[in-house]
Amino acid sequence: MNKPWNVKQIKNYKHKVTIIVPTYNEAKLIREKLDNIAAQSYPRELFELIVIDSASSDGTPEIVKEWAKEHPEIELKLIQESVRQGMAYALNKALQVATGEVVVVTDADCKWLDKRTLEEVLSLLSDPSIGAVTCPKIPSSNGPIEIEKSYRDFYNVVRIAESKAWATPIFHGELAAFKKSLLEEVGGFPAFMGSGENYAATLIALKGYRAIAFEKIKCSEIIPKKDYHKWRIRRAQHLIQHFTKFIRYTGTAPERFKLILLANVYLHLVNPWLLVAAMVMLVYESVTVAPLAIALLLLGAFSLLCKPYRTWIAMQLYLVAAAVRNLWTKDILWEKQVK
Ligand code: GDP
Ligand code: MN
Repeated sequence: MNKPWNVKQIKNYKHKVTIIVPTYNEAKLIREKLDNIAAQSYPRELFELIVIDSASSDGTPEIVKEWAKEHPEIELKLIQESVRQGMAYALNKALQVATGEVVVVTDADCKWLDKRTLEEVLSLLSDPSIGAVTCPKIPSSNGPIEIEKSYRDFYNVVRIAESKAWATPIFHGELAAFKKSLLEEVGGFPAFMGSGENYAATLIALKGYRAIAFEKIKCSEIIPKKDYHKWRIRRAQHLIQHFTKFIRYTGTAPERFKLILLANVYLHLVNPWLLVAAMVMLVYESVTVAPLAIALLLLGAFSLLCKPYRTWIAMQLYLVAAAVRNLWTKDILWEKQVK
């Protein structure tokens, strides 16, 4: 974390930006989201907004149309799909009509906390070695925020450390910015799996560009009020799909990215099962009254009092549940959570 970023930022680097907001039943949040984007200091004539809606049944497109009328100064295109085929599928459609040199994808359920966010993103992309930029995540809501915060505290550190070392293979829907030419080179977003931004960013990193989570870009995301575990398991499913796809690239990845990719493959696909295996063995040994096994199990149980450890265990269990659930569904058309 103490290492320098080694980025060559040109302040005031400005190009046309296309901001894409994918929506599926976001009537409750879309107005605030558009207001949040409109509050950016970035010059109006240099940004275009595309809302791509996939057959929402709650009137989301109508709210977008109303908002567009109230904001004639903003160039807004609304694309309406009549059938929902998933977020990545929808993003590709938007990409086809995007005219910016830079494409920024941002979900409806999050906010950019600084009005100079786009300026910062563009200034990072002025570095020719950087192909994609994302943000750390700050959870917000009245949902189970404590566990999410505790998780993010670790998680953001890892993302930033990977980014400083070279690139992170995990991007965030709150803000995922790409040089459009690179995004097109890697074939846009993958319609066959859940986590589109991660996939595109990782392919860009494999091409030898940096894909970074930059600490100064602050975004908040709303945590669902209900079904937190379901939500976490679905996301874990997408991460597992993502890293399973990239196992075969670990051998050929650029040197600086290889270890990062390998570590993530290990952490997402192998490590959770070691925990399960160890627990099964310890319980088995305890039944036959092996004192060491009993002592270790007790130590494990007491450690649960410590929050970081509890969080870590929960994350492993989400990954295990997700791996099992992946056997029958990829959850590309996921259920909307109440936020
Ligand atoms: P989460 O952030 O992983 O919990 O996923 P969300 O449910 O918040 O979805 C991320 C963004 O994608 C939100 O803005 C959704 O409205 C949007 N979204 C989800 N599914 C679809 C879809 O099938 N089509 C489109 N166009 N957007 C979608
Ligand atoms: Mn979301």
